[in-house]
Amino acid sequence: MAVREIVLIGDPILRQKAEPVKHFGPELRTLVRDMIETMREARGVGLAGPQVGVRQRVIVVEVPEDEEEGITGPWVGRPFALVNPEIVEVSPEMEEGIEGCLSIPGYVGEVKRHVRVVVQGRNEWGKPRRIEAEGFLARVLQHEIDHLNGILFVDRLESREKLYRVEDLEAEGAVESA
Ligand SMILES: [Zn+2]
Repeated sequence: MAVREIVLIGDPILRQKAEPVKHFGPELRTLVRDMIETMREARGVGLAGPQVGVRQRVIVVEVPEDEEEGITGPWVGRPFALVNPEIVEVSPEMEEGIEGCLSIPGYVGEVKRHVRVVVQGRNEWGKPRRIEAEGFLARVLQHEIDHLNGILFVDRLESREKLYRVEDLEAEGAVESA
């Protein structure tokens, strides 16, 4: 396993559409393991292929369980990969929440996302995976799938006033980045 370098905003790869994965071989599994290690080392909750310079439709997610905040369920508290993920259902309800990005260090924004989504894709072995997510997990999935389409959270801010410097929010506690 290896920690890979995280690509920062300004690099054109973050603005390109990633390609679907066609081969579910050992290289893909190495990529997934490296992405999980990279995400953990950076203390992120999600990471997408383009963020490690790989233009492939692969994301990894690890949302810590927080029962008090209602963040629980089978896809929480452990890392997992989704290959070729597609959002197949969204709730009409949306909510604003604070979001950061490992490719945009030092900043967070208040971003409106669907409260619930259903995402389909495959795991790193090619087995179909379907995830019904809500709240924070749904937010992270939407953020990561955006990366595969060249979209960053700053593109989804309703105004410049919804972008904050992390150091200005110090008093408000931990901010997680994807
Ligand atoms: Zn991100």
